[in-house]
Amino acid sequence: MNIGILSRQPELYSTRRLVEAAKERGHSVRVIDPLLCYMTIASQRPTIHYKGEEIGGFDAIIPRIGASITFYGTAVVRQFEMMNTFCVNESVAISRSRDKLRSLQLLARKGIGLPVTGFAHSTKFTKDLVSQVGGAPLVVKLLEGTQGIGVVLTETQKAAESVIEAFRGLKENILVQEYIKEAQGADIRCFVVGDRVIAAMKRQGVEGEFRSNIHRGGEATVARLTPEERSTAVRSANIMGLNVAGVDILRSNHGPVVMEVNSSPGIEGIEKATGKDVADRIIQFIEKNAKPGKTRTRGNG
Ligand code: ADP
Ligand code: MG
Repeated sequence: MNIGILSRQPELYSTRRLVEAAKERGHSVRVIDPLLCYMTIASQRPTIHYKGEEIGGFDAIIPRIGASITFYGTAVVRQFEMMNTFCVNESVAISRSRDKLRSLQLLARKGIGLPVTGFAHSTKFTKDLVSQVGGAPLVVKLLEGTQGIGVVLTETQKAAESVIEAFRGLKENILVQEYIKEAQGADIRCFVVGDRVIAAMKRQGVEGEFRSNIHRGGEATVARLTPEERSTAVRSANIMGLNVAGVDILRSNHGPVVMEVNSSPGIEGIEKATGKDVADRIIQFIEKNAKPGKTRTRGNG
């Protein structure tokens, strides 16, 4: 098969491993920087040009679109969809997953367990919002944060109100969330491919830190999942419309609750923690599922 990987960084572990795995299974593979693609949008024959040449003829595209280039990156994925190329994750699903409120609303609608979450535009009703989500202690999050930056644990009602008002004063969008204390600074990353969790790791934050992010010093080990956790992860990826997803779960007293669903989950941490060949599983999924015109949305939306 002819596989294209949309990635800005060919030297990145995740990209390198996907290239390796594709080659090992006898495919030809090319890494394409989405920001260097330019496109003509025509109803007859949509095209994509790259560094001066027209590209196409791919059996599958693996989008690895970083959060900072979601807008242009998903437009490139959509163009491939318009050309009837199979994209492992579709543009609509990627956009959905990048919007935390939209994702949580979609998951809630389908009955997925979530931490009680609130959000507001105005700070006029902060007190009420805080009590709506059950009062302190609370987690306040920047909607656009990553790697644990902008995630704050507020122990008291007053602290919660101050932090919310400070963020809103900086014109940042935030959400407030029930603090899952019993998770004890750990979360579970479930790596979903198709309708299976193919690897899972537990990330444990350093002593005294409630955030488990590896970038904050967290450590990863293999996780054994309960059947309920497994089905929660698979259903969440499915609701988002993602074939490849990293579903982050907290273990709460009332069962697994989903924090976020990532559409370009990193491969390095999970392969190293679990010893599983995650890249190979993604390529195998493509072999089974990639067919021209199989894209569901055809770039609609
Ligand atoms: P980011 O997108 O920056 O990684 P997350 O929402 O994943 O932000 O939060 C970072 C970390 O903080 C999580 O991995 C988890 O360990 C901890 N955390 C986040 N939300 C909660 C919560 N509601 N209760 C307990 N811990 C939480
Ligand atoms: Mg996270």
